[in-house]
Amino acid sequence: MKLTAWGRYPRIQATGHSFETAEELRGYQEKAGNSIVFAMGRSYGDSALSERVIFTRRFDKILDFDPEHGTVISESGVTLSELIEVFLPTGWFLSVTPGTKFISLGGAIASDVHGKNHHKAGCFSECVRSFELMLPDGNILRCSHEENQELFLATCGGMGLTGIILTVTLTLKRISSAYIRETIVRCQNLKEIFCLFEEHMDMTYSVAWIDCLARGENLGRSVLMLGEHATAGRLNPRTAKIRSVPFNLPGICLNKYSVSLFNHFYYHKNPLFVEGRLVPLDTFFYPLDKIANWNRIYGRGGFTQYQLVLPRDASSEGLKIILERIASSGLGSFLGVLKLFGPENENYLSFPMEGYTLALDFKIQKELFPLLNELDSIVLDHGGRLYLAKDVRMTREVFIKGYPRWKAFSELREKLGMKDKFNSLQSERLGV
Ligand SMILES: Cc1cc2nc3c(=O)[nH]c(=O)nc-3n(C[C@H](O)[C@H](O)[C@H](O)COP(=O)(O)OP(=O)(O)OC[C@H]3O[C@@H](n4cnc5c(N)ncnc54)[C@H](O)[C@@H]3O)c2cc1C
Repeated sequence: MKLTAWGRYPRIQATGHSFETAEELRGYQEKAGNSIVFAMGRSYGDSALSERVIFTRRFDKILDFDPEHGTVISESGVTLSELIEVFLPTGWFLSVTPGTKFISLGGAIASDVHGKNHHKAGCFSECVRSFELMLPDGNILRCSHEENQELFLATCGGMGLTGIILTVTLTLKRISSAYIRETIVRCQNLKEIFCLFEEHMDMTYSVAWIDCLARGENLGRSVLMLGEHATAGRLNPRTAKIRSVPFNLPGICLNKYSVSLFNHFYYHKNPLFVEGRLVPLDTFFYPLDKIANWNRIYGRGGFTQYQLVLPRDASSEGLKIILERIASSGLGSFLGVLKLFGPENENYLSFPMEGYTLALDFKIQKELFPLLNELDSIVLDHGGRLYLAKDVRMTREVFIKGYPRWKAFSELREKLGMKDKFNSLQSERLGV
């Protein structure tokens, strides 16, 4: 079978195994060699790719719910979308959610995903009370901050390299409406957007779309979106129709002229300022989910997302240099996102650190990797790191410098016999 993740690069030949129960999986694991979990394949690069993969899609039962505390017990193949479908009408939502709901619980923990409220709520692992983890020998351990804490810290953000996450216990957030009160502010440049992020630190959600091709006094021009849960509005809004990109667009359609044009229109299409308009949760959190297969617009060769974070005090200078370099290369795309992160957690490989994160999509082409190598140096020089869930080409050196706790992670893998059992193309490249 041909297998690829969301960036559709690389595309590899793989064999896969599905399971419905932990017993079934244990039987397989006893005989199987090296493998990695492939869940919903919404990671962009090669973290879920290997010659042998384990599919979790059929491990998909919601097992229990405590309506008093909002605690759900669920198998790890259940998606965020399925949880929302069941629990939103009863007034419960996710405390932390990424920009797509089509990811599994296992994937959310393994990447320790972040949302538009990281500065307030931290990563996904903050709402995970515990999970069961299958180790290389088939044993299952419960992991939490109280039990097997080292494994908990290594698995949240550990990209599937510490075992297979089975049953998850997580806490949902009480809400009274399926709408968000959204405020939009158009910003002329990087200085303005930084000021506004800092000024609105107390807002629950904040994120900005950024024009990565704007230059000069418009460098970093952006549209800031702020949000708070509404109290007005129903709990079960009509769901928007999903449209689809039916085929791969020819690679030539996406070039610096078409992207500049799009960015110009998108920037000016947004109002200068709108305060507190009511929008459905789906529109605020998951705008891209409305277009199925949108990854086809980058053509057959695929794309990658380059997501970096810089410490807060280095963000202004570092992002200026990075955006100038990207704008002069003419390679960026229309999907540029800037977010503010709150304090770093204790997990060994979680991505966020206190500061600003920038995520940009790039079509795979021969000029790209030399540009990204240059950006890597700027990121490291400013004390930052790259997100493993989006990565497809980071070197071991960049990884080690960006993730100072990598050694403890690697030693734990060695001690528990994981290095012969759980590996992805990414872990082999990074030598972890
Ligand atoms: C449109 C879009 C928007 C996104 N926005 C954000 C965002 O805002 N914030 C953010 O943090 N991320 C974001 N992401 C990235 C995405 O949330 C992560 O890559 C997530 O891990 C994908 O989950 P998945 O179920 O698709 O897992 P996969 O892509 O299949 O796997 C990802 C990793 O998780 C491991 N894994 C999955 N399930 C298990 C399991 N049961 N046990 C052990 N390991 C497991 C895999 O081995 C792999 O290493 C976005 C992705 C897309 C496509």
